[in-house]
Parts: sequence; C-alpha cells; structure tokens
Amino acid sequence: MYILSKDFPDHVGTEVTIKGWLYNKRSSGPIAFLEMRDGFSWTQAVVAKAGVTTEVWVDVEKVTHESAVEVTGTVSKHLKKAGVFELQVTNFKILQLAEDYPIALKDHGPDFLLENRHLWLRSKRQWAILRLRDAIITGINQYLHQEDFIKVDSPIFTPNACEGTSTLFAVPYFDLGSAYLSQSGQLYIEAAIASIGRCYDFGPVFRAEKSKTKRHLTEFWMMDAEAAFFEHEDNLRVQEGLIRYIVRYCLEHCQEELAALERNIENLKKVDAPFTRYTYEAAIKKLNENGSDIKFGEDLGNDDEGILTKDSDVPVFIEKWPKSIKPFYMKTDPSNPERVFNDDLIAPENGGEIIGGSQREEDVNVLINRIKAEGLNQADYEWYLDIRRYGSVPHSGFGLGLERVVRWISGTEHIRECIPFPRTIGRLRP
Ligand code: ATP
Ligand code: MN
Repeated sequence: MYILSKDFPDHVGTEVTIKGWLYNKRSSGPIAFLEMRDGFSWTQAVVAKAGVTTEVWVDVEKVTHESAVEVTGTVSKHLKKAGVFELQVTNFKILQLAEDYPIALKDHGPDFLLENRHLWLRSKRQWAILRLRDAIITGINQYLHQEDFIKVDSPIFTPNACEGTSTLFAVPYFDLGSAYLSQSGQLYIEAAIASIGRCYDFGPVFRAEKSKTKRHLTEFWMMDAEAAFFEHEDNLRVQEGLIRYIVRYCLEHCQEELAALERNIENLKKVDAPFTRYTYEAAIKKLNENGSDIKFGEDLGNDDEGILTKDSDVPVFIEKWPKSIKPFYMKTDPSNPERVFNDDLIAPENGGEIIGGSQREEDVNVLINRIKAEGLNQADYEWYLDIRRYGSVPHSGFGLGLERVVRWISGTEHIRECIPFPRTIGRLRP
C-alpha cells in the first residue's frame, strides 16, 4: 500500500510503500541505510542484503543522491527516538537515477546555494523552513478569522506611492504612464473596513530600498490588518494576540521542523502576554544609558533593537514615535501633538522589527495638512480622503512582514533563507 511517511504511526508492523528521493546512503557490509525523504518527513530505510533479491541489492548499491525511488518495507518504531519510524526494506525500485548531484553533503558557500536554490530547497533546513512558513501563514489566517477579520485583497499595481516614491518599482502601464508595485496594501484596506468592519490582506509587496542587510528583501510578503473602531490600545492587543497565537501554533504543529532547525523552543514557549512596552522616548533614554549614541528623532538601528530586546523574553513594543519621522496617515496623540499613536514590534533573540502599526488619522483636515506638509500631491489622495469625508471613524491597523517572522521563529540568520526564491538587490535568479 502506498502511503505518506507522516502516516507511519498508523502502520507499525505492516508492509507499506513510500515514494520519494534518496537523500543519503551509508552502508556497512551487507546492510545499507537509506535516508529518504518523501516531502512529509525524513525516514531511514534499512536494507539487509539477505532480506532482498540480488537485483534489488544491485540497485541499492547503484542508487545515487537525489534519485527518485520507491521503497517497500515494514514500518517499525525507532528503538531509541520516540516518534521516529524506520522501514525494514523488502523491495526497492529506482524511478529515476539522478545524475551527479551538484550539491554535496558538505558545506557550500551561500552564493553557490543561491545559484542552486531550486535544488537547495530539498535540504533539510529548507524543508523545515517551507513547512514552518506555511504554519505561520495558517496561524495568521486562523487567528484573524477568530478575531472577525476577513481577507480582502489589495492591488499590486498602484497609481501612486503610499509612503513616497524613492523605494518604488515603476513598471510601464499602457497609455497611463507608470504603475508602481505596491509596498503595502494599507490604504486600500482602510477603504474596505468601511464596508466590512475588519479585514486584512496578505500578499507580495515590493521595495526598491538599497538596504543590503540580513533583514531586507526587495520582494516580501506582508500581511496588513485594519479594523474600524479600533484605537491604539486595541491595535496593540491584536498584535500581541496574533504573535502569541502564531508561536503557539508553530510549537504545536512544527515539532519536527523546529527540531530540524535546532531551534531553542524553550525560548519560544516564553512568548506570552504581556509584551514589553517602551514609549519611543523611554526607549531612547534606555538606549543612551546603555551605550547607544542614538539621538531623539532618529530611527532605531539594528544594535538599538538588540539592546531593547536583550533582557526581554517576549517581543517589545516601541510606541508613540515623533510625528516628524512617521508617515502622514498616523494619528496625532492629542495629549502630545508631537507624537503619533503608532508602534513597532521587535522580536526577541535578535529577531528585529516584525510589525509596524498605527492608529490612523480620521480627521480629513488634519490629514490634508499633513499631506501638504510632506509635499505629497493631494490629488493622488482624494479617494483616500473620501474615506474621511463619508462616515469617518477611529481605526487602526498594522503590517507584519512574513519573512521577518519566519526568520525569528526559525532562528535563521539571513532573511533570504526565509522565502523560497529570494529577491535581493543583487539576485533575480533562479
Ligand atoms: P525596517 O525599519 O526594518 O526597514 P520598515 O519600518 O520600513 O522596516 P514597515 O514599512 O513598517 O517597515 O513595514 C511593515 C513590516 O514589513 C516591517 O515591520 C517588517 O516586518 C516588514 N518589512 C519591511 N521592509 C522589509 C523588507 N525590505 N524585507 C522584508 N520585510 C520587510
Ligand atoms: Mn516600521
């Protein structure tokens, strides 16, 4: 019977067939150990020369790394490792004998692996990251639906910049001049909440920023959430609930993946409410006390984020930033007109910024003044201003960078490992 390796627990003691790829082979005399993967888990198949026909043994000796294979055998529990199963092989077929595989089971440089990304996806780390990424997406969808958000898709071709044009990719668009690839769907889902109350989008966004860091891609997946009648505190509460839910979901559903990634799950288990909070002002003060030379009015650097999260087991909110360094749509704090009701959420363990959110300005005149003050073209934003002209309500939202979350939860150094086919300034292939 053909089964998937994930169903081994239901078939202990019976003969089954799995189909997949040969990852590695070791042999010692008349016994061969085939490490196989079928996409669902990694399995050791044990072949005893005495237990198979001569033809089968010849194939076992001949089979190369990454050959497609079909293995039949009896499922047994691993003697030492709970939850791990082995196959005692009775039959073995080569479905396609792989040519000399370019990726050896030794260390290659990152450039070589990126050139061969289409093959490197088969590595155990990538296998685990692909599955973890999917679990994070599923967790996000589940949590938001529980909180009564529904998915509304925002456009990718946009007519103008959401936050200035410097980091936009322009593409020729028929007789209409240039379209720009979206950097965030926020403005569009702000329109949609006046129809359905709470919503989120989740799709690729594009930023032509020349940041060659371990946290920036030029194409990444962003989830923007937005809710009517949500104020700053409601916004933070949902962000906290979402991150907590995602982490728990991964701990529950990705045990094998997190083990393959050698992730310290004890640290993930500590990610519980309430999250640590600093106002921007308090953060600057703490940073200066701890050796950072950051000045009031500057954005936090990588090292600054490290200092602020060092002593925290849970993510850290930095809220209420100076209006002068934040986009026009953020709502001014009435108790301090130099501040806005916004937050960045920084993940612990050097995870960096994973979310940026804010309450949005709902007063049409304040918004027009801010658009003018920033030198933006009001005509481009008339439709956005309409949202404030017809039934304006307090509302808030946030944007989560999927790969940043994958990077943090998987414990990966470089963000390019956290998306199947990374796009960075210097890479567009494969
Ligand atoms: P950063 O300061 O880290 O460059 P940002 O402040 O420009 O990020 P936002 O505009 O607030 O980011 O975008 C929302 C979220 O999208 C961020 O919190 C982050 O998780 C993610 N993000 C932003 N830029 C990138 C990028 N170039 N690559 C991957 N993820 C990103
Ligand atoms: Mn931000």
